[in-house]
Amino acid sequence: MRNLETILNESASRHRHLCPRQVLGARMGLAGAAALGLTIPRTDKRLLIILETDGCFADGLEVATGCTVGHRTLKVVDYGKVAATFIDVKTEQAIRAAPQLDVREKSWQFAPGETRHYFAQLVGYQQMPDKELLTLQPVHLQTPISQIVSRPGVRVNCTACGEEIMNEREVWRGAAALCQSCTGNSYYLPTPLPLSRGMPASSDPTLTRCHNDSMIQL
Ligand SMILES: [Zn+2]
Ligand SMILES: [Zn+2]
Repeated sequence: MRNLETILNESASRHRHLCPRQVLGARMGLAGAAALGLTIPRTDKRLLIILETDGCFADGLEVATGCTVGHRTLKVVDYGKVAATFIDVKTEQAIRAAPQLDVREKSWQFAPGETRHYFAQLVGYQQMPDKELLTLQPVHLQTPISQIVSRPGVRVNCTACGEEIMNEREVWRGAAALCQSCTGNSYYLPTPLPLSRGMPASSDPTLTRCHNDSMIQL
């Protein structure tokens, strides 16, 4: 297992800076995996992490654990909270990690001589023992792990829009499979403008076409 300093160096190189939330992500990754008895960084899919915000925190966590969105071992459920649940996919044990409620205040004790909040947290979060920094709570997932992970190669087309849905994310209405958007549970609404109207000419080299034929800025 790599030490905290190595992890933080790699995480910071993604940002050109190191910040307290990256430290929390790294510390949480180390503690969460240890609580499950799993070594990290992982190159397999045994450890699944559901984190509750994006941002710098996610990078610390990702570097520490080796879990990534690309490997389908890291999922964001955006509650806007610096917290994450660590799941051993094999044993189905799940542990949620979050900072102790008073870590900001407590960080001063672990950064002697520091007078600035930000740097007290940056240093303090690296020094605090796990017990002072984090809460680790065994939890029961509301959705079965087998459903979260799903099975490779499972695909169905949405009855309404025709687009393909992977990983059993469709919603069944009788015999009809619908995507989340077509059930009304969508994060977007289509605009009345047809695709490409008002867009710059396609000769612009900084623009390319994405798969659904709309223009995207590179
Ligand atoms: Zn940051
Ligand atoms: Zn659809």
